[in-house]
Amino acid sequence: MKEATKYIHAGTEPDPSTGAIMTPIYQTSTYVQQAPGKHKGYEYARSQNPTRTALERAFAEIENAAYGLAFSSGVAATDAVIKLLAPGDEVICANDMYGGTYRLFTKVFEKFGIRFIYVDTTNVSNIANAITANTKLVWLETPTNPLMNITDIAAVAALTRPKNILMAVDNTFATPFLQRPIELGADLVMHSVTKYLGGHSDVIQGSLMMNSPELREKLYFIQKSCGAVPGPMDCFLVLRGIKTLHVRMKAHCENGAKIAHWLRNHSKIGKVYWPGFEDHPGYRIATKQMADFGGMLSFVLKNDSVEEAMRVLSSTKLFALAESLGGVESLINHPASMTHASIPREERIKNGLSDSLIRLSVGIEDADDLIDDLRQAIG
Ligand SMILES: *Cc1c(COP(=O)(O)O)cnc(C)c1O
Repeated sequence: MKEATKYIHAGTEPDPSTGAIMTPIYQTSTYVQQAPGKHKGYEYARSQNPTRTALERAFAEIENAAYGLAFSSGVAATDAVIKLLAPGDEVICANDMYGGTYRLFTKVFEKFGIRFIYVDTTNVSNIANAITANTKLVWLETPTNPLMNITDIAAVAALTRPKNILMAVDNTFATPFLQRPIELGADLVMHSVTKYLGGHSDVIQGSLMMNSPELREKLYFIQKSCGAVPGPMDCFLVLRGIKTLHVRMKAHCENGAKIAHWLRNHSKIGKVYWPGFEDHPGYRIATKQMADFGGMLSFVLKNDSVEEAMRVLSSTKLFALAESLGGVESLINHPASMTHASIPREERIKNGLSDSLIRLSVGIEDADDLIDDLRQAIG
């Protein structure tokens, strides 16, 4: 099935009781049983809900995976993956990743005896060198938030597969429209559904996709035992969002490319972080594993002044100053004080995230209007 058809039809069938073409919002906590233990596959809504089931089918289909699971947020999905581990286990992860993932790893799970080893995953040999007998998971994010670093997913899978080390990819920035890590050898894909899959800045949700039935069983057990499940209304909103993922992503990519090139040619702009530039260190891998470069980019001003960056951040009119990303509307963000403030400053600086870095989530408005807005804000 071709991409566009898949996004429109993923997971959904006419409702069996009425024929409703859209999956109803099954706003219920429990289900009446015909006799004790005799039911239609639905017992209690923490374990199963038909709206969520339809969405979980859709998650699987869009990543070309066998199974999908929905969680109440992206970090709840990540949390479920780490709960597969036991004290003494080690996780190798990127030194440049979403601040909330870093916070979950260091502030919540380290005290349970799980060790996190941070390396520059863009160089796969750094991962190879960090593997020990205790390594149970490699956690990748590509492109990374906010520096747009690219890691070769297939090369990492070639390393982890023979050693039976799980490999998970946070695919939030790329979406399955641009990159499908399971096809490249990943065991697990995680999404902050809050971002592009939802697509309209109106829902918090996370997902996991996988091929292995054993992995699905273990993660389903964690999902129902720990209870971080999304409500049916949120599942409905995401089912609706996914129907236009391909249309939105094409527009995000087109606007992202226009703005990246425009910024790069601006006399006041220093470095622009966008994997579509041929001199981006990850360009070759990005063109190999991604269909296009997405709508996320970051930049610094030529004079690297924090005061100037703050002035630009407060001067845009269309780009709203807000955390989050992936909605139809454009957002501007200051990672050091907003999305990545939970990472200690010296760690941020060491990993190349400067105090003057500005991140854009380029929406699908008219590109000329977005450029006009940036022009007046940069001055
Ligand atoms: C937002 C985000 C998360 C966390 O997801 P929530 O839905 O906010 O819990 C994880 N990874 C990336 C790359 C993100 O942008």
